[in-house]
Order: sequence, then C-alpha cells, then structure tokens
Amino acid sequence: MAGQPRRIDRFPATAYIAAMALRDILILPDKRLRQVSEPVKKVDAGIRALVEDMFETMYDAPGIGLAAIQVGTPKRVVTLDLAKKDDPKNPQVFINPEVVWTSEEKAVYEEGCLSIPEYYGDVERPAQVKVKYLDLEAKPHELEASGLLATCLQHEIDHLNGVLFIDHLSKLKRDRVLKKFTKAAKRAAETA
Ligand SMILES: [Zn+2]
Repeated sequence: MAGQPRRIDRFPATAYIAAMALRDILILPDKRLRQVSEPVKKVDAGIRALVEDMFETMYDAPGIGLAAIQVGTPKRVVTLDLAKKDDPKNPQVFINPEVVWTSEEKAVYEEGCLSIPEYYGDVERPAQVKVKYLDLEAKPHELEASGLLATCLQHEIDHLNGVLFIDHLSKLKRDRVLKKFTKAAKRAAETA
C-alpha cells in the first residue's frame, strides 16, 4: 500500500513499548505456515510486543485478521479488526483461542488470506461458534460469534493448527493455487 503508514491506538498496557515493527508476512508455500503453534504460557512484555507488531503489520497490509505464525512466530495469538473502512478501529486480540462449540448451521464466505495474496475462494464453515481465549491481561473470556467474526475466528484459529483456507477447497482448486504460488516463489528466488 502506498502512502502514509497508518498508526493504531496503543493498548494502555503496552504504551511503554517504544516502537512497533512491521514484520514480513510468510507467503504460501512457506513451510512454517504448516507448523502447529505453541500455547502462550505467560502474557508478558514479549507477547504484548508481538501483538503490537501484528497489528502494525495487519493494518499496513491491509488485512482484517492475522495469526502470529504468519509473521513467523509459532505462538497461539490472533489479531482481528473487522471495523468497516470509515468506522473507528476495533482492534481485537485473542490469546490461546479455542473453539468450544460450533453450530450445525453453516455459512459460506469468500475468504482471502494475507499469506495467499490476491487469491479468494468460497469456504463453508459453521455459522456460529463459541470461542474461549485470554485477553492481553491474561483474563479468560468466552465469546459467541456469528457472521464475519465467526468465519474470521475459525480462519485464524486454523492458522494456529497449520491449516489454511485453501485446505477447505476442492483438491483441484488447492493444487492449482499451490502450483501457482510455488512457481512464483521459484521465480522470485531466481531473480533475487
Ligand atoms: Zn489467513
């Protein structure tokens, strides 16, 4: 994205951190995207710094959701902001998120992923989910989500388990996108 980098409001708990950093987003077929992320044992300054970096990287991309493994850190941390373009920002953090209930009802959304740029596909998932997670103060929460939030939470929690949205598509579609990105990565390596 061209233009001024967009700043986000800092969390009070992390206001002492001097600088956020833009991190590189791992792109398909990077093998690290298939890693299963480790639970966060302690929500400390390191985790808060990671969350700040994730928000900066996510807003810069721009994207609406990011899992820590997408910036190369295999920790169970997810950031989301589903606010509409002209609405105030709504940064949300989910630490050790876990789906504890899914509805029978399904919903289909066209999904995309910052690790699979400019590729979109229709994915069917449970329409409602209950997710438990910790916040930045390590306080436990349980959230019942529907609509876009339910889909995004499932997409990001999949990342923590090494699962990508293309895994929910037909094998034919998945193989095609994988081939395309593998070729592109090879080309980039050759010209680097
Ligand atoms: Zn993704």
